[in-house]
Amino acid sequence: MPELPEVETLRRGLLPVIEGRVIEAARVNRPDLRWPFPPDMAGRLAGARVVRLGRRSKYLLAELSTGETLIVHLGMSGRILVSGDPLGRFVHAHPAPEKHDHVVLDIAGGARITFNDARRFGAMDLIATERAEAHWLLRDLGPEPLGNGFSEAYLVARLRGRQSPVKAALLDQRVVAGLGNIYVCEALHRAGISPRRKAGRIAASRLARLVPVIREVLSEAIEAGGSSLRDYRHTDGELGYFQHNFRVYGREDAPCTAPGCGGRIVRIVQSGRSTFYCPQCQR
Ligand SMILES: [Zn+2]
Repeated sequence: MPELPEVETLRRGLLPVIEGRVIEAARVNRPDLRWPFPPDMAGRLAGARVVRLGRRSKYLLAELSTGETLIVHLGMSGRILVSGDPLGRFVHAHPAPEKHDHVVLDIAGGARITFNDARRFGAMDLIATERAEAHWLLRDLGPEPLGNGFSEAYLVARLRGRQSPVKAALLDQRVVAGLGNIYVCEALHRAGISPRRKAGRIAASRLARLVPVIREVLSEAIEAGGSSLRDYRHTDGELGYFQHNFRVYGREDAPCTAPGCGGRIVRIVQSGRSTFYCPQCQR
C-alpha cells in the first residue's frame, strides 16, 4: 500500500507530464472503483487543462481549468503508468491495454497516463476546486506532517489524555494526515518510544521529539523516491514505488541499529497490523 512518500514521489514524477497540459481525451472503462465515479467523469475531464498537481495526505489533487479538482487515491493496489512522454523521460510506446486499466488519460503532446487497480480499493472523484478541502474524503484529515500545522505544541495538545497506544494515535488520520504503518514504526524507533505506550502517558518532551523525527523519516523516503525517479526511463513507466531501507519495519529478529543498543527487533500485532520495534531502546 503506498504511503505518503510514495504518493509524493508519484506527484513529482507526474508533474512534468501533466502540469500545465491539456487532457485531450479520457476513457473510463467501468462505472466505479471503491465507489462510483462521478457522473460523466470522462466528459468533464476531456479538454481540461491541469493547472496544478497537488497532494493532500495520500490523495493527489489535480486542479483543472474547468474549476473542478480531480481527486485520486491509489488505495491498496492502484498503479499509475506513464507512456509516450514526448520528452523521452518515460518509455515511448504505449503498452497493450491490461485487464485492470480502469481510467486512461491522453495528454496533449502524446503522453498517456493509465490508472490500473486490480483490487479496486482506489478512488477518483471530481469536486469544485473551492470546495475541495470540504470533500468527505479530505475534510477530517489532520495537518500535513511536513507542513507548518504539525508542530510540537500541536501534537502534545492533541494526544493529551489519550488512552490508546501511541502507535494507534499516530495512525489516526485526524491527528496527522498520511502517516501509515511503516513510517510510524520507523519514527517511534528513532524517537525511542515504545509503540505500546499509551499516548497520553508519554512526557511532553518525549512526545515533542516525534515531530522532527516524523518529518525526518518522511523526508528521507521522499528523497529516496526522488533518486528512483531518475531511473524511470529504464523501467516500464510505473511511478511511485521504490526500494527503501527501513531500520525496524520488516526486520523481525534482526539486530537493532541504534548505536550501543544491542537489542533485537520484535514483531507484535496491534489493531490487526504488524508493529516492529526494539523493546531494548524503545520505552
Ligand atoms: Zn534498540
